[in-house]
Amino acid sequence: MQESGEFINALTRAFAPAAYIAGDDERRPFEIDWRGLIDQPAVAVLLPGSTAEVADMVKLCREHSVAIVPQGGRTGLVAGAVPIEGRPQAIINVRRMNKIRSVDPINNTAEMESGVVLQTAQDAAASIDRLFPLSLAAEGSCHVGGTIATNAGGVQALSYGSMRQQVLGLEVVLPDGRIWNGLRSLRKENIGLDLKQLFIGSEGLFGIITAATIRLLPRPKKTLTMLAAVESAEFALETFVRVKNLCGSDLISCEYFTSNGLGMVLEHVPDAKPPFKESFRAYVLLEVASLDGSADLLSGLEPTLEVLLSEEIVHDMVVAQSEDQRLSLWTLREGISEAEKANGGALKHDIAVPISRIPDVIDKIDREIVQIVPGCTINIFGHLGDGNLHVNIMPPKGTALSELYSRGRSVTSRVERIAIEAGGTFSAEHGIGQLRVASLEQHHATVELELMRTIKKAIDPTWMMNPGKVVRHDG
Ligand code: FAD
Repeated sequence: MQESGEFINALTRAFAPAAYIAGDDERRPFEIDWRGLIDQPAVAVLLPGSTAEVADMVKLCREHSVAIVPQGGRTGLVAGAVPIEGRPQAIINVRRMNKIRSVDPINNTAEMESGVVLQTAQDAAASIDRLFPLSLAAEGSCHVGGTIATNAGGVQALSYGSMRQQVLGLEVVLPDGRIWNGLRSLRKENIGLDLKQLFIGSEGLFGIITAATIRLLPRPKKTLTMLAAVESAEFALETFVRVKNLCGSDLISCEYFTSNGLGMVLEHVPDAKPPFKESFRAYVLLEVASLDGSADLLSGLEPTLEVLLSEEIVHDMVVAQSEDQRLSLWTLREGISEAEKANGGALKHDIAVPISRIPDVIDKIDREIVQIVPGCTINIFGHLGDGNLHVNIMPPKGTALSELYSRGRSVTSRVERIAIEAGGTFSAEHGIGQLRVASLEQHHATVELELMRTIKKAIDPTWMMNPGKVVRHDG
């Protein structure tokens, strides 16, 4: 602890008080992950105000052998943005770096610092009639930098792609304190390796993203939002396929949830209202968008919706008639993570499978997991249209979540195996952080993991950046 005292002294000499937090109580909120599972102390929380300050802080950390945990809005679900046990670490949180540096409506790009909150970036794009093409339930808190570092997917990835598709350029402070300025705003550039790809989705392993150039898209002028009630995952998939066949990339969202998720939202989210008089097994939320402000989206869709209802693929359906109704329908889907947390939390999974396999996979999970954890509740929801399902297991009534976690590995292994056997993955959009390291080691033990380690060592030989996340130090 003497070393951390020296580090704090050096910090107070080098930076203004606004640029760090050293007091135990003030640091605490930065040390606990969103799910409340990990709570590890940091030596200090650093709050840089500029890229140059990030570079100076990284160099200071190096001199004092203090490792660095890059942090954005701390909404990550795999505890990637909080310290691990056993090594002095400083959190570098970029929230003061929240300027939109420039917006170019002709090039359709925006350059912004990494601490800009996603919703602020969306609003800035909307103010010039453009779309920032990423949307997710945590958008009021997560940072643009965090969404890049995790390659976030969200509810419109079906049409616009994940964050990787939106990034044209990056500025990064490397583990040795050098600044890489790769802030290009080009659609084409072949200069050998496309280095920005290394940092997108790398969860802070290779440096701190300080700014980015993001592509903007034309903003839809009309949207139509519908909630379909179905009695099985098979019918949910059939609903998606028929609407997708009709609308193509105008279908921007297709989300799935069940009565378990809806029940928790209705219980825990203020203002959430039941969408139907009856309760159904599952629900599909569909959103169609058009750039044409005079388009009559409902007329175009009506024949397909009528067939879905007459064939009893869909049992009931509501179509939002106003923006308020649209937001109410979205609350039912986007409130699930918060509601589940208020309900006591869950053992979470983030799988993706080829969409044709979704019904099989859901069926298998439902059958096999209750055998391992009798009495549990399975809350499956997510981005049906791109095959990404969150499979969250809640303990039987009267059993603590910690008890479920104590045998969590066998449950998790089973869920992940079911996904992988169906040609899928155990990690679709949330990343690895510290909670899925064991899964990565289990499922990708050979060449992939070795390559990741080799690249990590080349860029960060002393394992300064985000130790214990994604790939473990091999000695
Ligand atoms: P943090 O949680 O602070 O950090 C996440 C990771 O990125 C950490 O490893 C951290 O070290 C690293 N990092 C953060 N900032 C930087 C930086 N500037 N430079 C380098 N590394 C950095 N995710 C989805 O993909 N799709 C969803 O639909 C979705 N829905 C969510 C809904 C809720 C209610 C919640 C709570 C989370 C959801 N998430 C979703 C997960 C989360 O919001 C995303 O992973 C988000 O991208 C994290 O951004 P953040 O700024 O909060 O990053």
